[in-house]
Amino acid sequence: MRGTGDNRGKFEGPEELGLRNIEDKPLHQDDDKKKNPGPLSEKNEAKYLFDSEVECPVCHSRITVKRIRRSALRLVSRDTDSMPIYEDINPLFYDIWICNNCGYAAPQSSFSQPLTKVEAELIQHSITSKWRPKEYPPLYDANIAVERFKLALVSATVRKARPIDIAMLCLKLGWVYRTMEDAENEIKFLNQALIGLKAAYDVGPFPVAGMDESTLAFLIGDLSRRVGNYQEALQYLGRVITDRTAKSALKEKARDQRHMIIEAQRAAASEASKTQETPDSTSEQPPSKGLKKLFRKNK
Ligand SMILES: [Zn+2]
Repeated sequence: MRGTGDNRGKFEGPEELGLRNIEDKPLHQDDDKKKNPGPLSEKNEAKYLFDSEVECPVCHSRITVKRIRRSALRLVSRDTDSMPIYEDINPLFYDIWICNNCGYAAPQSSFSQPLTKVEAELIQHSITSKWRPKEYPPLYDANIAVERFKLALVSATVRKARPIDIAMLCLKLGWVYRTMEDAENEIKFLNQALIGLKAAYDVGPFPVAGMDESTLAFLIGDLSRRVGNYQEALQYLGRVITDRTAKSALKEKARDQRHMIIEAQRAAASEASKTQETPDSTSEQPPSKGLKKLFRKNK
């Protein structure tokens, strides 16, 4: 399987991120075979949004972007890897801002940060030259969010952004796929996120993307568990558990995770011994029960 090996520290480019042929394709070709039904609570969703104007750091035009009234958000729950779930709206869907004039796309937290002349030229050369402006509907669904995150990944890789920035984009894109229950793509992008997160963990300095050392170790451990890399998961969770500076709540969560993995490994082992006892019962390999269990939705 691609992306699961120990290729830490290096993204291999847009293709590896699932952004094939950006060299030849006009950016923004629609492939909306799967149309999503409109959001159920459109009225509710709209009340969290408002328009705002910002300047594009590449072409310097003024563009209108969507912002979220964060003070109005109500957190429902958080997954173990910190993916938040809010009432009525998923702010993640609105996280990417796009300049429709030049095609530059980035998360709103970094969109307005000035770029170097070289970075701007890279965007203009590789993106603006084949950019086709596009209008989005007033409310975004998961499919739109996927498209916008991929455009942000193209911008980030073209301007050679830091691995941690690309990793955070991959993590959030993985989360969008989780809301779609698309486990295959979720795992693919969590694996990509792990490459940059592990590289950042190795070199620091902390905080990295707002995380201290033990928080990042926990995240790497949890993501490794989610992609089925138990060995590495145990290794990073172990670091949290033995870290004297880690908060006790985080250590507790790390112990829970470790317990889940050991249980899953046990289940997988007993499953394997059962199939060995009856070798000719079926030729098809069912997915490991232990692995499945780990992908059950978090409460
Ligand atoms: Zn622009």
